[in-house]
Amino acid sequence: MIVSVDLGGTKTRTMLVDSGKVVKQITFLTEPNKGRSYIIKELFKSINYVIEGQSIEAILIAVAGTTDGKVVKEAPNLKIKNLRLASIVESKYKKECFLENDANAFTYGEFVNLRSKNKTLSNMVGVTLGTGIGAGIIINGTLYRGFNFSAGEVGHMTISSEHRKCSCGNYDCWELYASSKFIRRQYLKEGHRKLDAKEVAQLVKSDKAAKKVILEFSKNVGVGLVNLANILAPQIIVLGGGLANIDMLYSQSVNYFKKHVLPPLREVKIVKSHLGKEAVALGLFHLYKNNLLKDKKKSSS
Ligand SMILES: [Zn+2]
Repeated sequence: MIVSVDLGGTKTRTMLVDSGKVVKQITFLTEPNKGRSYIIKELFKSINYVIEGQSIEAILIAVAGTTDGKVVKEAPNLKIKNLRLASIVESKYKKECFLENDANAFTYGEFVNLRSKNKTLSNMVGVTLGTGIGAGIIINGTLYRGFNFSAGEVGHMTISSEHRKCSCGNYDCWELYASSKFIRRQYLKEGHRKLDAKEVAQLVKSDKAAKKVILEFSKNVGVGLVNLANILAPQIIVLGGGLANIDMLYSQSVNYFKKHVLPPLREVKIVKSHLGKEAVALGLFHLYKNNLLKDKKKSSS
């Protein structure tokens, strides 16, 4: 049995995973504004709850940020920089602890699930659409991390020339145009009201401004998907994250994709996440079982 934690900027989900199944879980509000010691205290409480009376092998944590497997290097949504989170957890529980980027864990979870139905699957991209955009890249059946573990930051590829500043310091990144930030910002401009992204999505049938914003958002998602397919030629792109279930998104972004991607790549399949909220937990579980987290520890030491 292992503990899988999905440590996100808004919510944290702590899960107990046994033989590839989530058997117990608890969610708490992360509240990054209260500081890192608050997050660690709440994290420990949630781990204590799921492991009560059980013996566990390891604790695996997916973070919304970059990590070398042991240290959270940069996690702006968690307001954390250079935190030796794995050592803190290891000294408390006397169990191995590994960290992974959350979009990588999501993608690997979806990959293992899809490959169980299609043995020829070896190249895939997972994209999570939410407050920002994350991605995981699978090449030849393994997670591609880049030389310093920061591959897959596709939310920061440049897709516009509006000169809009991103939290990363650059301008016109994909996630400024294809995330909940975009939906809120555009709806304020078009609909003259402050609503969150899900509220805008619910209004598409009755409100012209909402429909316009969601159509534009879907097209912008499609722009990034075209770029990803043109560069990586994956067999499948999986869409996940809080915004992936918006009704019009899927059909509209796939339409845009088919029209604009290079002709040989029109056969790239775009699918919605099958595992939903459990994808990250299962991804961590399989990365651990396939020794992909331990390898990471070796290569970073
Ligand atoms: Zn950026």
